[in-house]
Amino acid sequence: MPWAMIVVVMLLGAGSSRTKQASSDMVLRTERFSFHSDPWVNLHHFLYQWARAEAGLGTGREAVQVPERGDLERLGDTERADWNEAVAFYRRELAERSYLFDDLMLALQVELMRLGGDPTAMPPDRPTGLRRSLAAAMPIYTAHWWTEHDRANRAWVEAQRSLVMRHEESYVADVERAYGGAWSGVLRVDVSGYANWAGGYTSNGPDHTVIWSRDDGTQGLYGLEILFHEAGHQRALESSLVRDLDRAFEASGRDQPGNLWHAVLFYTAGWVTQRVAREEGLPEHEPYAVHEGLVNFRGWRGLWPALEETWGPFLEGRSSREEALRALSGG
Ligand SMILES: [Zn+2]
Repeated sequence: MPWAMIVVVMLLGAGSSRTKQASSDMVLRTERFSFHSDPWVNLHHFLYQWARAEAGLGTGREAVQVPERGDLERLGDTERADWNEAVAFYRRELAERSYLFDDLMLALQVELMRLGGDPTAMPPDRPTGLRRSLAAAMPIYTAHWWTEHDRANRAWVEAQRSLVMRHEESYVADVERAYGGAWSGVLRVDVSGYANWAGGYTSNGPDHTVIWSRDDGTQGLYGLEILFHEAGHQRALESSLVRDLDRAFEASGRDQPGNLWHAVLFYTAGWVTQRVAREEGLPEHEPYAVHEGLVNFRGWRGLWPALEETWGPFLEGRSSREEALRALSGG
């Protein structure tokens, strides 16, 4: 092949993959959310969970199964060697990091969604080998697993589409009233074939949510509730709730239970989702925290009944936020 032709082929190849990704990773944009199925975000979480499964690392809930590991035998020798090298890197450098509290993992989450098809766009101070691992693994991921993950992500968004569009405005009004902060802009939500051990998580630099599309716990109304819960972790909403709870407990002089603010997020998202179920004529919805048994965890006992007594009446408009915070703090 003459050189000129090779250059043209290379340019065409680079251009078309960039265009493809830029135009296709956003699946849906509503007034308050934009939903994405981004191959880099998906690949990163896939390698992370693959490496964790290989290392036999447990989770806070139940072990994340990675059945794709059984496909490895079908890959060619070079592909398998490259993939194993990427997994080995993840196992060495990232697998033992927590997804909720680790600064590097949270930073990577934001950087990955900005790659726009170019792994070298990642800051140079990231662990050596990360960019190389992602770049080498991407063609293998695309050839064998991405199509199925992307399909599941798009199906998840499609399943939530009409409920989100019909109820997002009343949901935003409720959380602004409940948490005391203002919602601003559009929250980016990346839907992913794998995520962390929970159904999703949110980081704040900028606010960004990842939801696990193929988790049993994120289907149907639970998907909507997880979305509503995670959106409550946006900095402006969460921080004003935390601040006002702190003030209320300071005034009452009592000790604040460590998980109370998070229980309020669960309770409020569950309450909104219950209302959605009623308005849609769907069967009664059991809040995620009750359904998953979270309310019985150590450090959570007693919180849910207290919220039913104080926060529920406030959400229903039968008491003020001040009264609810005072009652919750025993003041
Ligand atoms: Zn949460």
